[in-house]
Amino acid sequence: MFSFPLSQTDPIRHPGPPPQTSDVVIIGGGVIGVTTALFLAKRNMSVTVLEKGRIAAEQSSRNWGWIRKQGRDADELPIVIEACRLWQQLAEECGEDIGLTQTGVTYLARTAKDLAKFDGFMKIAADHALDTRLLDSGETAKLFNGIAQRYAGAMVTPSDMRAEPWVAVPALARLAARSGVTIVENCAARALDVSAGRITGVWTEAGRIATSTVLVAGGAWSSLFLRKHGVSIPQLSVRATVAATGPLPDIHAGAAADAHVAFRRRQDGGYTLAPGGSSLLYLGPDAFRHATKYLPALMANPLGTRYLPAVPVSYPDSWSTARDWQPDAVSPFERMRVLNPAPEQSGLQSIERNFKALFPQFETVPIKTAWAGMIDAMPDVVPIVDRAQAISGLFVATGMSGHGFGIGPGIGRVVADLIQGNDTGHNLHRFRLSRFSDGSALQLGPAL
Ligand SMILES: Cc1cc2nc3c(=O)[nH]c(=O)nc-3n(C[C@H](O)[C@H](O)[C@H](O)COP(=O)(O)OP(=O)(O)OC[C@H]3O[C@@H](n4cnc5c(N)ncnc54)[C@H](O)[C@@H]3O)c2cc1C
Repeated sequence: MFSFPLSQTDPIRHPGPPPQTSDVVIIGGGVIGVTTALFLAKRNMSVTVLEKGRIAAEQSSRNWGWIRKQGRDADELPIVIEACRLWQQLAEECGEDIGLTQTGVTYLARTAKDLAKFDGFMKIAADHALDTRLLDSGETAKLFNGIAQRYAGAMVTPSDMRAEPWVAVPALARLAARSGVTIVENCAARALDVSAGRITGVWTEAGRIATSTVLVAGGAWSSLFLRKHGVSIPQLSVRATVAATGPLPDIHAGAAADAHVAFRRRQDGGYTLAPGGSSLLYLGPDAFRHATKYLPALMANPLGTRYLPAVPVSYPDSWSTARDWQPDAVSPFERMRVLNPAPEQSGLQSIERNFKALFPQFETVPIKTAWAGMIDAMPDVVPIVDRAQAISGLFVATGMSGHGFGIGPGIGRVVADLIQGNDTGHNLHRFRLSRFSDGSALQLGPAL
């Protein structure tokens, strides 16, 4: 039965203890950290994943569960195509039912003008021989049982997939552990131990691990951790609200969204719903520090973000969150084991209203539970996947900007090769760390 959210009251399934030495230490037990660890372990490296709370308890379980090629940035697309193959392979390897099904992703357009916005991606899709196609109004209506809204059309990628995130990422973590990865939950990485510009270890709340190589895959916390070590990334977090219904008759097997509501059928027969429109940014010190970098995104979608001045205590960008600390003292990461924002009431009301307007056959929309997550955003809506030049042995894979679940295993495989010094098979220039400081013009990724 569906139960959510994952929280710090859940049992610790990977108690550790942390080893004294490890070839690679990965900070963060989300989809990126877990899949990178898995691929490294398959190549006989000793790997430790440190998770301050519980595996996948932040973004990696709170997401919608869409695994989509559709609407991707052109430079992400080859990696997400690979990720789709890897999802299928890993679902078999882990031997658990993670709800992976190829039921497609559909973007709905109410007007001809909205439909025209898909043209850019249709060209990218053609370059990569995707099965993405445009549907007319009649074809769109046939995709959904009893839909009341008449759309101008839609863009659909039938080969896109869905999975149950809160099942999938913990299952991948168990596969990683069986493959030799040491996972330690309830164990924050406090700081890097750096000597003469090289990593020599990681300070954790349970002692020091000697290592030469660290991957920061800390989601919404990466910027706080890196900044302590002089690596500045313009990462901010925005709150996004989600709701889950109980089982409902099948109105659509896949995932779909228009400007007002997004929905995705779950394995248990319920729907995961989210409001369209804007997300919420708390205005902490980093929001002001990086404001100018976000101007292009802001101008492209002026109503896309709302702002609240009061950042909740112990959030990564809270005014009272320490920006520096000693490795032998409690760090901000232990003060917030699981970032668990409250869902926004107005968002929940709009979900119910808009879903019901689309499917009036449901007299009520039985919302069983609701939650929110803090999406780690970058100004150009694409992640950082790179080594940090300033500190030898430091790698960064973060800022997945709201679409890191689907691409997760692809990024994990790429980062494993990056760490081993192999050819990654993909052009990672777009995802370089230095793009925010090397004077290059910001290239805004798609907000589709
Ligand atoms: C509401 C919502 C809907 C979304 N929908 C989709 C979707 O449908 N499809 C899609 O592809 N993506 C979606 N995303 C985005 C996706 O969930 C994320 O991009 C992805 O999960 C990021 O994975 P991650 O491993 O980088 O970060 P996270 O999953 O956030 O994991 C980072 C982990 O690092 C840990 N950590 C941080 N600092 C430390 C430290 N110092 N020591 C130890 N541990 C630390 C944290 O506790 C956390 O568990 C959505 C996100 C949200 C919030």
